[in-house]
Amino acid sequence: MSNIKSVKTEYYQIPLAEVLSDAKHGDHTHFEIVVCRITCNDGIEGVGYTYTGGKGGRAIYSLVEDEIKPILIGADSARIAKLWEDMTYHLHYVGRGGLVSFAISAVDIALWDIKCKRLNQPLWQVAGGANNSTRCYAGGIDLNFSEEKLLANIQGYLDRGFKGVKIKVGKEDYREDVARVAAVRKLIGNDTIFMVDANYSLTVETAIRFARAIEKYDITWFEEPTIPDDYQGYARIAQSTSIALAMGENLHTVYEFNYAVQQAKLGFLQPDASNIGGITGWMKVAELAYINNLPICTHGMHELHVSLMSSQPHAGYMEVHSFPIDQYTKQPFVVDANGRAVAPDVAGTGVEFDPALVGPHLIKQS
Ligand SMILES: [Mg+2]
Repeated sequence: MSNIKSVKTEYYQIPLAEVLSDAKHGDHTHFEIVVCRITCNDGIEGVGYTYTGGKGGRAIYSLVEDEIKPILIGADSARIAKLWEDMTYHLHYVGRGGLVSFAISAVDIALWDIKCKRLNQPLWQVAGGANNSTRCYAGGIDLNFSEEKLLANIQGYLDRGFKGVKIKVGKEDYREDVARVAAVRKLIGNDTIFMVDANYSLTVETAIRFARAIEKYDITWFEEPTIPDDYQGYARIAQSTSIALAMGENLHTVYEFNYAVQQAKLGFLQPDASNIGGITGWMKVAELAYINNLPICTHGMHELHVSLMSSQPHAGYMEVHSFPIDQYTKQPFVVDANGRAVAPDVAGTGVEFDPALVGPHLIKQS
């Protein structure tokens, strides 16, 4: 039967090749991965995971191991929507959104992996099957880079075949950001998609001034100009510039996305399956985007999102994140000759961690 027999949890800290900085989180030296392995009575195993920018991973590990695991053991792994509700309301009072959403995500992704394996189909088919590839862009975490290093980094993205790039902004003097945007546009030419991301570091007024100053550089979106909670502030910025706004990595419940769509005048939604309640949560936001005529996009974990984005008819641009989780898996991440990311064609999510690669970074496991 498909009942859950065991749940194993693993916590990793994986160092980055170099220090990466953005405007609000400061320096990143490593990222964390919490893996959830669910085994059913008939021997089928599903693997799910979430990740962080370096903080909170131990708490997420504890939430999966100590709080969620007891309600999973013995449950029917096929009843994903029920388990999603059970997990959500089991911890709702103490953790609506936030770390609990990360923990639920790791479990939910494992349940979808099991579902795909039972169907013997890849995730891109099970989640919708609109396509098996998606447009994408390279998302730099590069605010600490000198302009020279920034441009060399962007050139590296172009050399790898990317047709879109994003840089961090949020320097103390916004005019320095304007100069960096101008230099990058000059390097990439007119045919490359170009976004900027302030990691919610700006005031509404500075964001408006900055947006107006970079309008002439054909910017596809301005991501997280100000704090994600200020939906009315987003609306003021959106009404003051021709550049579309994007956010989503800091919206951790589907209700927050609903409010943001109603109030913030966003041009792109960027849910992250690692923190919006897994694939179940991501699909709810994808539907919300569809009925509001908005492209669905993503943040982070591109090795998984490539399948979800490919599956949707209204996919925008997938972020290929600077945390290279894909380099610790057995399925290589593929960008084709047209700059599109190609979904893995194996049964399951197509994300299988390689023990030889992640093993050295294991901190604790159950
Ligand atoms: Mg961002």
